[in-house]
This record gives sequence, structure tokens and C-alpha cells, in this order.
Amino acid sequence: MSPLDKNDNLQRYIRDLPTPSSQEEALAQFQNLYEMVSINDWLEGELVFDLGNFILRYRPDLISLGIRLNVQINLFLRTIEKYAADPDTIFYNIGHSAGCFALTEQNAGVLSGLIVDTTWKENPETGEYILNNPEDNQKNWISQGTTASYAIVYARHVDDKYDIRIFMIDLLRQKDIISPITIIPINKTLDMARLRFNNLTVPETSCLELSKKSSKLELLNGIFFGRYMITEATISAMLGQIEHIQQSISGCDKFEKLGFVNYLTKCYSEFDKYKSLLYKNRRSILYADTTHSLFLTNCYKIYTVEKSIQVFNKLQLMFGMRAATSDLKFENLLLHKVAEGDTYVLRISLINNHFKSGWFQMLTKRGFSFQDLYNLYQKETRREKMDYIMENFQVISDNIINSTIPKIDC
Ligand SMILES: Cc1cc2nc3c(=O)[nH]c(=O)nc-3n(C[C@H](O)[C@H](O)[C@H](O)COP(=O)(O)OP(=O)(O)OC[C@H]3O[C@@H](n4cnc5c(N)ncnc54)[C@H](O)[C@@H]3O)c2cc1C
Repeated sequence: MSPLDKNDNLQRYIRDLPTPSSQEEALAQFQNLYEMVSINDWLEGELVFDLGNFILRYRPDLISLGIRLNVQINLFLRTIEKYAADPDTIFYNIGHSAGCFALTEQNAGVLSGLIVDTTWKENPETGEYILNNPEDNQKNWISQGTTASYAIVYARHVDDKYDIRIFMIDLLRQKDIISPITIIPINKTLDMARLRFNNLTVPETSCLELSKKSSKLELLNGIFFGRYMITEATISAMLGQIEHIQQSISGCDKFEKLGFVNYLTKCYSEFDKYKSLLYKNRRSILYADTTHSLFLTNCYKIYTVEKSIQVFNKLQLMFGMRAATSDLKFENLLLHKVAEGDTYVLRISLINNHFKSGWFQMLTKRGFSFQDLYNLYQKETRREKMDYIMENFQVISDNIINSTIPKIDC
């Protein structure tokens, strides 16, 4: 079967799925779909992006299926592919088992980039690793975490917060480290977990070998497939929202008279153009795998998510219940803001990189205005400088984004 036929078949399959009413039903739907494609094909093709787009556009009620696919393929499988010394043997051994990806902690992750509080140390006699995290800073918001067989876990050396390694933990043998999160944001059909490590001893082989030599930036690079998938899916979600409104107002000419229909048509055309742009750039951004592609991915993620939230809110105000009856809810877009790099945090990282690029770049590339630089120069303490940047972080990061990527004109 050609990749295109496969894509069509899977989309047909998804289109006919019932809305799941429980986490178990949602997991079974995911597992069936996941098993229809070989691990190799999931990784080599771009099926997961196209399915994510399809789900958010036509079946936003199945958003948990989209999250599961993103976690499983872009985070779990791709991390193993990238950082294991022999990924094929791991894939052979685990087959189509469900996995999860544990980076975020109660007080770290989004807040701190990659500075996590989960620690590792080696037992010099056995070569085994011992993992720990504080009682009040467990791994948090781990999608599919209560049902997965394996977890990818980010941890740092007990005495060196910059020495971060990635571990693959067999959860079936470690059921007691999992506690389910019962108050679940956004979607009740996605199981989420906290993971508590209390002197957990894991074999030497559970450390993914290539993560030992990777810098923090390289480890962050590892997650940009998921970030790009969310970016594309957000645009698709908006197209679905606009199509829903177009259908619900058809035959009612008051919106035409108000000029709202023209705005809606313009939105459709602009979001559709942007979808094509992201699709066209997908391969070159993702597979180049350089600092610049991470920078581009971050700009696209920030811009598409925040612009979509802005247009979504405007459409709710213009079309009222005709917009609100869509399956796409504000919470879905909010999830896209926080997941795989909160857009506010990414804005700060853009400014950080701009700073690190040196004075010449700062003066010649867009970001800080001369007025900003002068104001910063005037501030005496580091704290005052930081406060100034935080007060102006939207404008400064917008300058960087606006000089890097095209805009949606609506
Ligand atoms: C449905 C769902 C699934 C998820 N799945 C996973 C998963 O599988 N694996 C995983 O590792 N994580 C996962 N996460 C975590 C997610 O990626 C975010 O890291 C997490 O939701 C953010 O943590 P928090 O809500 O505690 O936000 P906080 O860190 O408390 O931040 C709250 C808000 O403060 C602002 N903020 C925080 N820090 C900064 C900063 N430095 N600069 C500017 N503004 C800032 C931002 O607006 C942010 O949204 C998931 C989250 C959800 C909701």
C-alpha cells in the first residue's frame, strides 16, 4: 500500500471512530490505530503530522488520540531513535507497546527549560543507576503515564544540574512509582500520571547511551518534532472552526450584512495559505536538525498558537453560539500553548538567544530597539534589567518573530 493510500485509510478509520467515553476506550482506539502501521513507517514517514492535522480539523473531540499519537511517535519513539545506541533492538523488543515521555515536573520543565529535579547517580560497583525526586517535585502531567509499559525519563546528575541523561524505564515492573492524576485538564479520556522515584534502581542499559554526550541544547532539539506537529495541528484546528461557522451561518444573511462573512472568508484563505507554508517547510525544518531549525520551529509555534487564540476569541465574539457549538474549545488551544514548550517560555528563550548572539547581532538584528538597549544600559542591577525585559517581553520577542517568519493577515 502506498503512503498516500495508508494515510487515506487511516483518516477514514479515524473519521468513523465514536467519541470515547472512558480512558480505556480511548487507549484501545489509540492502540488499534498504532498497530496498523509498522514502527519504521511511523518514524520514517510524516503520517503522524497528517493524522494530527486531520484529527484537529475534523474530529477535535478525539484530541486525546492526537496527544497519544504525538507522545508515542514524536516523543517516545523519536527519543529512542535519536539517543539509543541500538534503537532497532529496543524497537524489536518492545514491539507496539505504549510509551510515555516524562520531562515536566511539578516545579520544573516549562518553568526551567531542562533544569529538572529528578536526579540520577551511578552505583560504581554494579553500574546501575539510582533515580530520585523530591516528594514535592515529581514528574507531572505525564500523558498516557498510567497505562504505558515504558517511560522515557529526563534526569540530572545528583551533583551537576547540567549533566542530563535520558532513561528508559520499564513501568510494568515499577507500578508503584505511578500515581494517576484525577483532576485532568482539557480532556477526560487521556490518562495522566505523576511519577515518583524513591531510590529506584535501574539497570545500566536503561540510560540511552547518546544522551550522555549531548548538551542541554541538543537534548532540547530532540523534542521539536512534537512542537512542529502542534504548530501544524493548531492551524488545522482553526480551519475546522471556520468551516463549522461557515456551515452554521449558511442561509442566514444578517452576517453578510454585518460584514462578518467577508472576515470569515479572509480568515479561511489566510489560515489555508499558512497550512500550505508549514507543510512545504516541514521537511527542511525538521530534518535539518540544527539550532536554526529549532529557532524557526519556536517562532512558528509561538506565532501560530497565539494568533489562533486571538482569532478564535474574535470569532466567538462575532458569531456567538454559532461558533461555540464547534467541537473545538478554547481549552484545546490553551493546551497547544503549554504543551511541548509553553509559548511564553519560548518567547523568553528567543530573547535569551538574542542576548547570547553578542552585541553586534543585537544592534543589527531585530529584537531590542535602541530605546530598549539604552533603557537596559541605564538599569543598575541584574534584577532591574530582568524586570525591564519581562515587562516588555511580548514586544521584544514579537520583533524577533516578525523579522523571521511570514504573518497571517486577518
Ligand atoms: C494535557 C497535557 C498533556 C501533557 N503531557 C505531557 C507529557 O506527556 N510529558 C511531559 O513531560 N509534560 C506534559 N505536559 C506538560 C506540559 O508540556 C507543560 O510543561 C505543563 O503543562 C506546564 O506546567 P504548569 O502547568 O505547571 O505551568 P507552570 O510552569 O506553572 O507555568 C504556568 C504559566 O506561567 C507562565 N510561565 C511559566 N514560566 C515562565 C517563564 N519562564 N517565562 C514566561 N512565562 C512563564 C506561562 O504562561 C505558563 O503557561 C502536559 C500538559 C498537559 C496539560
